Amino acid sequence: MSYFSSRGRTCVSASQAILSGLAPDGGLFVPSYYPSLTQADMEQLVDMTYPERAAKILSMYLEDYTPDEIRESVRAAYSQERFDDPAVAPVHNLDGCTCVLELFHGPTLAFKDMALQLLPHLMRQAARKAGEEREICILVATSGDTGKAALEGFRDVEGTSCVVFYPRDGVSDIQRLQMVTTGGRNTHVLAVEGNFDDCQRGVKELFESESFATAMAERGKILSSANSINFGRLVPQIVYYISAYADLLARGSIRMGQDVQFVVPTGNFGNILAGYYARCMGLPIRRLICASNRNDVLTDFFNTGIYSLRRMFHRTISPSMDILVSSNLERLLYESADRDGELVSTWMRQLRECGSYGVGDQRMEWMRGVFYADYADDPDTLQEIRDVFVQDHYLMDPHTAVASRVLRNYRRRTGDETLCVIVSTASPFKFAQSVAAAIQGEAAVRNLDAFACSDILSSVSERPVPAQVQALRTLPVVHQDVCGACTEDMAQSVLHVLK
Ligand SMILES: *Cc1c(COP(=O)(O)O)cnc(C)c1O
Repeated sequence: MSYFSSRGRTCVSASQAILSGLAPDGGLFVPSYYPSLTQADMEQLVDMTYPERAAKILSMYLEDYTPDEIRESVRAAYSQERFDDPAVAPVHNLDGCTCVLELFHGPTLAFKDMALQLLPHLMRQAARKAGEEREICILVATSGDTGKAALEGFRDVEGTSCVVFYPRDGVSDIQRLQMVTTGGRNTHVLAVEGNFDDCQRGVKELFESESFATAMAERGKILSSANSINFGRLVPQIVYYISAYADLLARGSIRMGQDVQFVVPTGNFGNILAGYYARCMGLPIRRLICASNRNDVLTDFFNTGIYSLRRMFHRTISPSMDILVSSNLERLLYESADRDGELVSTWMRQLRECGSYGVGDQRMEWMRGVFYADYADDPDTLQEIRDVFVQDHYLMDPHTAVASRVLRNYRRRTGDETLCVIVSTASPFKFAQSVAAAIQGEAAVRNLDAFACSDILSSVSERPVPAQVQALRTLPVVHQDVCGACTEDMAQSVLHVLK
């Protein structure tokens, strides 16, 4: 299978798409077709372990990787040392028609590990195939979770280095501590004086800058991306949608072929897009429910057909979704435009130049057949954490709770009782202060730090504080650099830390 750019005619192999991250014309790589998942495939998957399921699905997309390379990679990525649940991505039953797909059992307690534990292996193999001997420098913009997951994934991986930009005041205490305490010879962390969109725009501009590429080349380095613009991030995410379906079949919750739905807490549209790809392969997903926080740009888009940046940016208790420019939507636009890269380029230019674009009624109609979108604000999210804890004695992090709230409202509005899987993207311990405030009341936790709040969560849920959080109490801070939000400052900072 080959990969096309969403903005033009570039056509590359899987390993080339993964190695370069972004297409040379600024577009995102998309698969040339969607391999189909037959009933026989599904029957096989039911009896497989998670790494076996991953190997089978990855091999459908990564044609220029050998079966051995893929097997080796998934075995290393999803090993029992790295994931604290033998199922890797377990499905937890909440009630008769609602389950939670837990994607936070990896080393950094967020769903980003599902892809970023694997990507370094795919990247190293891609470099070998290309005969690339220069160091691959991974530039990452993070809204909190990708940064740490990338640092952990690439830490001390031969032939790579990893530079992370995070918004200085836009991440949770645990998220920040996780990043700034990262060891390893090749990891670098920079606090940007701006928000996530500034970080993401800066990184994109560095990818497009010829002078920066030259400066890096002079130092024997090439750039790549571990953000979800890299197709290598998306393909491992397709796996868990299919794996969840196999688990539901295995436990008799559904019949073969029966429709299910997924509700996904969404920011950059990467996670839910992987669900859409699973649906394109034939996984029986009726609709994908796109859940946003107060930054409801996608809700408005799916309801009006107009994507507009003329709005306030809100800082919320679900910071990994505090995003206004949802990069991966471009891949869906490409499908909606019948794979017309010119049209996608035009929309993206309108977004850059005028702050908005509209896709027209017909395309909107098509998208609405596949996606339903809504949002939940902070008070509703806190209420949802409380409600689910009281009803089901289950602790949700704020991102997952946004999805759960949107599902609750969706059901009330539509009466649709199709079995729905809530995609849980982070451990509640990663956002301990907000979750403890939801459970105990704002006043009870006002002066407590994230560790004290973790202890509260541990005692109410009768679950231990994850070892990764415990360790942060004593790990030394090793990254303290700050940089400005303009691309030039970001470029200087990268060259400085890499010297
Ligand atoms: C990254 C992230 C999201 C958003 O995922 P996208 O793929 O960007 O839509 C949601 N929740 C958590 C906890 C995350 O880390």
